[in-house]
Amino acid sequence: MAVSIQLQNLVKSFGSVRAVDNISLTIEPGELFFLLGPSGCGKTTLLRCVAGFAEPDSGTILIGGRDITHLPPHRRDTGMVFQSYALWPHLSVARNVAFGLEMRKLSKAEISRRTDEALAMVKMQPYAARKPARLSGGQQQRVALARALVIHPQCLLLDEPLSNLDAQLRLEMRTEIRRICKESGLTAIYVTHDQKEALSVADRLAVLRNGKVEQCGTPREVYARPTSMFTASFIGETNFIHGILEGGEGGRAKVRTELGLFVSEASAPGLRTGDRVVLSLRPEVLRLDEPPASATNRIRGIVHDTIYLGEMAQHQLRTENGTNLKVFDVNPRLIARDTEERADVWIDPRDVVVLPAEEADRS
Ligand code: ATP
Repeated sequence: MAVSIQLQNLVKSFGSVRAVDNISLTIEPGELFFLLGPSGCGKTTLLRCVAGFAEPDSGTILIGGRDITHLPPHRRDTGMVFQSYALWPHLSVARNVAFGLEMRKLSKAEISRRTDEALAMVKMQPYAARKPARLSGGQQQRVALARALVIHPQCLLLDEPLSNLDAQLRLEMRTEIRRICKESGLTAIYVTHDQKEALSVADRLAVLRNGKVEQCGTPREVYARPTSMFTASFIGETNFIHGILEGGEGGRAKVRTELGLFVSEASAPGLRTGDRVVLSLRPEVLRLDEPPASATNRIRGIVHDTIYLGEMAQHQLRTENGTNLKVFDVNPRLIARDTEERADVWIDPRDVVVLPAEEADRS
């Protein structure tokens, strides 16, 4: 049966740096949960606390309701996969995987059965006799995964497991990791700084900032409804337009900006009329197609630069007041390479996210 992981008020400092600053999170049984954030935000330290490689200064960690805060790593029922694979070079693939079972003094027959099972799960049975040096990076990472799975952990902890692989393999392996976690009913915490990896694989994710949880939710919630400028700019690309909240009714906020009045149906909670706010407009919500007659939120401009990528084009749109906005256009009709083209855009009010303005120096 899958177990939950609960982190309650966890704190871990290194000197004056609060690497983990009072974090509380509940990861549901069988959930694939991602920790995401810029370098130094505390992702690895938090994962190491769960694995037992770092001791929190205060707070509690429960796995399946059991307090494991002070247990040694091998008594926590967690398997860990590292960025660097950490395979033994002198041992075969099978012996690398079997190692953890040999330490646990299981019978030869049981070790052999479980090793085969773990290798099958990651599709590495044909390579059982090979040494790691004769495997590709992706295959080595599969072995590292098998080695974590062979002990039948209840939780899998992954620290940037794919960052040494090339782009194509990363795509393949992230689907594989999700399949394995779901098939085995594992509760997993996965650390990455790759937002595409997180958006495509996570059930839910937490964005960390300076040791704290900035926002937690499903990939769709965090991408489409960021609650801060930090999250909006860390996950995906966006255009920020400063303005003043002029109030609203029935969930439709109105914001006065240099580019005119905007209507939003996606306003962050807690904002009040008169507040300094920022609109976050994802490049793909700025639309070049014909707006419906009732459309509000129109911006007049000139496309003066296009990066053509085949399935889509990335335009730079210069507005009448000189602001530059990014516009992503799928199946593009318009290409402005060495030319300038008049182009007006419109934005659906559901895609206009209103956020509290942040000081530029807060990071
Ligand atoms: P990255 O993406 O670069 O791996 P991260 O989000 O995983 O970063 P951590 O490695 O958890 O961040 O580090 C969080 C903070 O704690 C950083 O300021 C880091 O310098 C500090 N830190 C981490 N480990 C130690 C240590 N052993 N001694 C001193 N400071 C540390």
